[in-house]
Amino acid sequence: MNIINFINRFPDESACIEFIKYQRLEQGVICKRCSCSKHYWLENKNSFQCSSCGFRTSIKSGTVMEHSNLPIRVWMLAITFISATKKSFSAAELQRQLGLKRYEPVFRMYHKIRVVMGKRDDIYRLEDMVEYDEAFVGKAVNNKTKNKLKRGRGSQKQSKVAVMAESTVLEDPDSGKLEKSCRYFKIKKIKNLEAKTAQALIKEFIDKSTVLQTDKSTTFSDLSDCIDVHVRETSGTDQGNFNLKWVHIAISNLKKHLQTYHMISERMMQNYLDEFCYKLNRRYFGQRFFDRLIIASIYPYWYDCG
Ligand SMILES: [Zn+2]
Repeated sequence: MNIINFINRFPDESACIEFIKYQRLEQGVICKRCSCSKHYWLENKNSFQCSSCGFRTSIKSGTVMEHSNLPIRVWMLAITFISATKKSFSAAELQRQLGLKRYEPVFRMYHKIRVVMGKRDDIYRLEDMVEYDEAFVGKAVNNKTKNKLKRGRGSQKQSKVAVMAESTVLEDPDSGKLEKSCRYFKIKKIKNLEAKTAQALIKEFIDKSTVLQTDKSTTFSDLSDCIDVHVRETSGTDQGNFNLKWVHIAISNLKKHLQTYHMISERMMQNYLDEFCYKLNRRYFGQRFFDRLIIASIYPYWYDCG
């Protein structure tokens, strides 16, 4: 979906309401009061009415747009920008592109869309062969804190993240040369680099029958509880680089991605990671990206995305 397509397909708010109404009926509207799934559409109220108890569900209720005063078309236009651009952009840039006066509602809208992306990706666990590594990435530090930090302790100004990538070793049948192909990624902010933190993440997000690939850091010295097969290679060597090929590529791209933003608070960092990771996981989606993100955004079961 590019901007020209969007304007042709959704010329006004009523075209957007019609589209969201259709998508919600496809997913199934469930009454909050009596759990009935049969609804009538109330045209002049932009709401579904329960056929059993009469309870009304507004078009935005139970979606990412709930409690937002922004028109549905603005939300859909924002999702179009996010789908159509490979590069990252700030909420201020999004505000300019949407031609809106106030920054704050745009900032909140963008973060809510990022939260949806994270929730969508959290449904899946990684499997087969998975690379796991940890890294430091940029975050905002105010001047007062900056002065307190000791020189040369760069890590204090950065967030710690764990990067996981499904990465399968393949052998070229002609040359016998080994290659690695990657599929899905997960990127999570972590509190510390302790072994128990890594173990909890691996247990939550990686299937136990996976072949896990890490470096020889003591963090990963005992993962026998979490994983059946564990391959460890010394970092910096050819073997070590091959072992963690895709997480290293992802970390390098993530650092470039985060450079777009002047300020990322530790509290919001996971949202930025979720957007980067969601786009990375859907790098071959092309035209389907917009529809998929819309469907995830109106999925009625992640209410708490504020
Ligand atoms: Zn009802």
